Amino acid sequence: MKEKLLLTPGPTKIHPDILEALGRPIIHHRTTQFQDILKEVNEGLQYVFQTKNDIYLLAASGTGGMEACVANLVSPGDKTITVEGGKFGERWTELCQAYGGDPKVINVEWGKSVQPEQIKEILDGDKDIKAVFITLCETSTAVTTNVKAIADVVKDTGAILVVDGISGVAVTDIQTDNWGVDMVVSASHKGFMLPPGLAFVSVSAKAHAVIEKATSPRYYFDLRKSKKAFAKTDTPFTPAIGIIVALNESLRLMREEGLGNLFARFARLAEATRTAARALGMTPFPDDACVSNALTAINVPEAVDGGKLVKVMRDEHGVSVAGGQAQLKGKIIRIAHMGCVNEEDLTRGFTTLEKVLTALGHNFTAGAGVNALQESFSQKV
Ligand SMILES: *Cc1c(COP(=O)(O)O)cnc(C)c1O
Repeated sequence: MKEKLLLTPGPTKIHPDILEALGRPIIHHRTTQFQDILKEVNEGLQYVFQTKNDIYLLAASGTGGMEACVANLVSPGDKTITVEGGKFGERWTELCQAYGGDPKVINVEWGKSVQPEQIKEILDGDKDIKAVFITLCETSTAVTTNVKAIADVVKDTGAILVVDGISGVAVTDIQTDNWGVDMVVSASHKGFMLPPGLAFVSVSAKAHAVIEKATSPRYYFDLRKSKKAFAKTDTPFTPAIGIIVALNESLRLMREEGLGNLFARFARLAEATRTAARALGMTPFPDDACVSNALTAINVPEAVDGGKLVKVMRDEHGVSVAGGQAQLKGKIIRIAHMGCVNEEDLTRGFTTLEKVLTALGHNFTAGAGVNALQESFSQKV
């Protein structure tokens, strides 16, 4: 069996420098040695989140970070806005309901993105909306949301704008301070190239004011505790020390490359992936206007069993891509190109995809996908 390759949208491939950091002996967290790392990590995260706000580290998967936002903002009876255009948007609705909130749900056809006017209409009609929950990159459909345009609509209202940037931060531009985004959530196992287990939440002063007054019960995820600890370059509980040490390496790599170069690299990989899919007679699932650069969702040809395609690629060739979720089960495949996925990885991915598509009965010119991929890679920017 060849070396396994993860082209899934979380967890993602781990960079070798990060793997090395993960193998270091554990250190204690109440030491100046760890505090120095924490300080560097906080600065690195502020660079990547493009903010001067506090960013809290929670030992949890991404959903834990999402829950922290809701638990700290939404009191029983509070009205919120959520957007359902995929699995992760639905999660915001479920979380608001779990905390006794009253989410006004905007339904968006899967593969399309929410329009700022849809959010404005609800905000204009109801001055009591406490918070607006959106998703930077809806990983289930590979759709990107225009966060800047939505922030323009929300920022002069009393509502708090919360963005699920779990697969978006460190991949797609999100200018937290410039655009006026109050809370941004991300997690270790997508663009940050780390194992799962760490969530990040950035919090604006406007959001802090709401958090102080919220009445929902909370303990481990109480961001008032996180705020106090952050001021002392500390964490309220035992942090995920090993992942934080490795996060420092991840942030170092990103700072060396620079955010602009990072975003441009993913845009190129995404463009090449879409071009290669078309060369195989397949089409990207989302609308062209809102395609994601973190991952590409591709419609599986009618004649091919999408579930089998994913399974054979993984079990017989060692290449993991993701299938569709919910109503898209069996209908799409999702190929991630975030973090440290590179041109060679995508070449192996498409070589394998071509082999398995042929075996499952899809007709195309052999090599067309891989050739289109190479041609796209070699084009000047
Ligand atoms: C992966 C992901 C999540 C969920 O994260 P978990 O780590 O599985 O809890 C939430 N939102 C988006 C957009 C994601 O990509």
